[in-house]
Amino acid sequence: MTLLETLAHKWLLITTPYSAPEAQAARFRAHQLNACLRLAPWVLLANTLNSGFVLWLFLTRADASVPDYLPFVWMLLVFLTSALGLQRWRLMRRGEVRNTASMRTLSKFTRNAAISSLLWAAFFAWTYPHMDPMGQKITIAIAVGMICAGGFVFSSIPRAALSYVLIMALGFDLGLLRNGLNQEFVSLTILLFGYVALVISTIFSMAQNMGARLLAETESSRQAELVGLLLSDFESNTNDWLWELNARGELEHVSVRMAEVLGQSKESLLGTHLQVLFKRLLLNPGPDEEAALLQLQSALDAARAFKRLDIPVCTSGEQQWWSLSGKPLFSDAGELMGWRGVGSDVTRARKDADAMNRLANFDSLTGLANRHQFQQRLYTLAGRPCTLLLLDLDNFKTANDHYGHATGDKVLQIVASRFKSQIRTGDLLARLGGDEFALIARGDAELDAYSDLALRLIECLREPLSVDGVQVRVGTSVGIATTSDGAGDPDALLQFADMALYAAKDAGRNTYCFFSSGMKDQAQKRLALIDDLRIATERQQFELLYQPQVSLLTGQLTGVEALIRWRHPVRGLVSPGEFIALAEQTNLILPLGRWVLQQACAQAAAWASDVPVAVNISVIQFGDAGFVPFVQETLRRTGLPAQRLELEITESLLIEDRHAVLDILRELRALGVRIALDDFGTGYSSLAYLRNFPIHKLKIDGAFVRRISESAQAYAIVQTIIDLGRALHLDLTAECIETPEQFAALRTLGCGSAQGYWIARPMPADALVDGQGHWCFALPAGLEPLLSEQA
Ligand code: C2E
Ligand code: MG
Ligand code: MG
Repeated sequence: MTLLETLAHKWLLITTPYSAPEAQAARFRAHQLNACLRLAPWVLLANTLNSGFVLWLFLTRADASVPDYLPFVWMLLVFLTSALGLQRWRLMRRGEVRNTASMRTLSKFTRNAAISSLLWAAFFAWTYPHMDPMGQKITIAIAVGMICAGGFVFSSIPRAALSYVLIMALGFDLGLLRNGLNQEFVSLTILLFGYVALVISTIFSMAQNMGARLLAETESSRQAELVGLLLSDFESNTNDWLWELNARGELEHVSVRMAEVLGQSKESLLGTHLQVLFKRLLLNPGPDEEAALLQLQSALDAARAFKRLDIPVCTSGEQQWWSLSGKPLFSDAGELMGWRGVGSDVTRARKDADAMNRLANFDSLTGLANRHQFQQRLYTLAGRPCTLLLLDLDNFKTANDHYGHATGDKVLQIVASRFKSQIRTGDLLARLGGDEFALIARGDAELDAYSDLALRLIECLREPLSVDGVQVRVGTSVGIATTSDGAGDPDALLQFADMALYAAKDAGRNTYCFFSSGMKDQAQKRLALIDDLRIATERQQFELLYQPQVSLLTGQLTGVEALIRWRHPVRGLVSPGEFIALAEQTNLILPLGRWVLQQACAQAAAWASDVPVAVNISVIQFGDAGFVPFVQETLRRTGLPAQRLELEITESLLIEDRHAVLDILRELRALGVRIALDDFGTGYSSLAYLRNFPIHKLKIDGAFVRRISESAQAYAIVQTIIDLGRALHLDLTAECIETPEQFAALRTLGCGSAQGYWIARPMPADALVDGQGHWCFALPAGLEPLLSEQA
């Protein structure tokens, strides 16, 4: 590299105020040029005026040694360069340097500046020695002024500024030198270059500032561009969008995505108040929606940032949820300028969360609260007065087993909706599982109100449920406990209500019971009894007694009823009245009933005569899908002819579920088994049952028989039942004959057979028949004379 090249390189280096890649440098050059060009017309005008002034100075203050035409030529040249400069300025303004400028353009500009400066320098160098002292002083002032002004005007292009200043200074200094190498020259030169050094350092400093500013601006616009890109990428790739409000809460920036989500144009949204927008989107806001809007309102009012505020909206007819986050924007003076934030569509997440919540808290079949929510509510209410109603459906199991689970499910749904129609808002109705329901009602006063409620719940199931064309009957038992019963905690309240429910079931179902303190002992006893019963069932600690039934006409044995006894290791012989209901509630009746049937059939099969054996069958057994096959199998195994087996059912069975029971009865009848309706007259006797059900016998309940002699009403009832049975061609057996008078009365009324303590008490099998299967029990002595009387 030659010295010249090295110098040129250094020159380029020090006169370029930034270091940037070419594309960027081109933009910077445009900035530099534009900064100069902005002043160009004024500079050119000043240049021209100045040249006129200088010409005048020359003409008035210079000696005559210089030819007159030369200053005019000079001025012409100045005019020419100014005109060219103006032309160049116009061209550049038109676009050449609007955004970018080449190195050549910058060099051209520098060259023009240098030419202009050279013209002036030459003029100063040439005319200075010819001026009078006053002219010289004015020339000095003009030269210094032009050096400074040029330096500043061209400072954005250091190369042009330096060329201008240095050429001008050197030319002027040459003029001073031509005036004589004296003290004046030395001192003026020192002063001149002092100024020039100052101007040059200012040029460098201004250029440096400009370079730094250009770099900073580029960086910030690059960042802004990047942020813009990121934001648009953010909006196009996510469900989120950006929004901006002014201080009044009106939309100031509506992103494309937001407009899209709302299905409205950006323009129509701009200027809309956010609150107004949401109100418009929610035509019928519920309490949840109102609460969400209030939250938004209070955050906006308090100029407080908010995060993930879920707002319900309704766009294109669909319920959606938006999650809004935003923060207020403040000026330096702390004044609210507006809001900026992000919105996202969280409908999906919200729906998922709702679904999860539903799964966790609601029963999917009925839509009622589930056990989990029920317990939560019970625990939240702990310490506050409340009343708990436990409901258990009667006969649901039968319907479910008979019609299948699909029907069972629909039954539960109908029951749930009927219950729901009876409760107050604010009370919680739950399905605890199976056919168990519960109701938590606030408050514990006015027991009457709860008995009314319980009655309504029972009543609402009175109408049969119509499911897929079949009429299903279910009932409900209700147990009620309130916090004023002294239940210290929710568990105790639940226990109390449970005890009350059992009491209701014991009381004959389809009824309600309030908890009473006596139930606690009963419950304890009950639990102990259940344990014992379970053990007894496993160990088969039961035996059967048999009670004979005789013909009222002939005194002949017409049948024997099998009656169960529990041989308790401590309590001794326990009668069925004390444990059958319990066995039914715990379903222990199923194994127990099978044992009875099996035992009775086996023993009866060993009897020498063909007298039928009657076996009592519980409602629960009828609900067991395997019941009929079991009967069939038992008959086959024991060898007892089907017509010797009489199954005693109660009227309550008939009202439970007509169709299911009817089907089972028909199947039994098809086997050849006889059906007796036990305790007839105490239940919901209806002629329709008797006509439609395949029944062979009515057993007149002991309650009427026992009072037949003293109560005309009981007598009339028994008479009616007998007439009815006869009309329907049913056999009739009177229960609980305790006196010969009762026997005689029933004989007179035309009843077929009788059973009772007066005839024979229930007795063990070995007291009934001997080893050969022959009857070995004795009939009362008074029977013979009675039979010989004319009926
Ligand atoms: P039930 O089927 O009506 O049986 C007649 C009940 O009256 C028997 O009571 C019997 O001992 C009693 N009894 C008979 N004659 C007289 C009388 O002259 N006066 C009085 N006061 N009572 C008399 P038990 O054996 O205590 O049975 C009570 C109930 O328990 C039965 O009433 C029946 O419903 C049920 N039960 C008995 N055994 C079974 C069984 O194996 N399975 C089922 N599911 N229930 C049974
Ligand atoms: Mg019976
Ligand atoms: Mg009976």
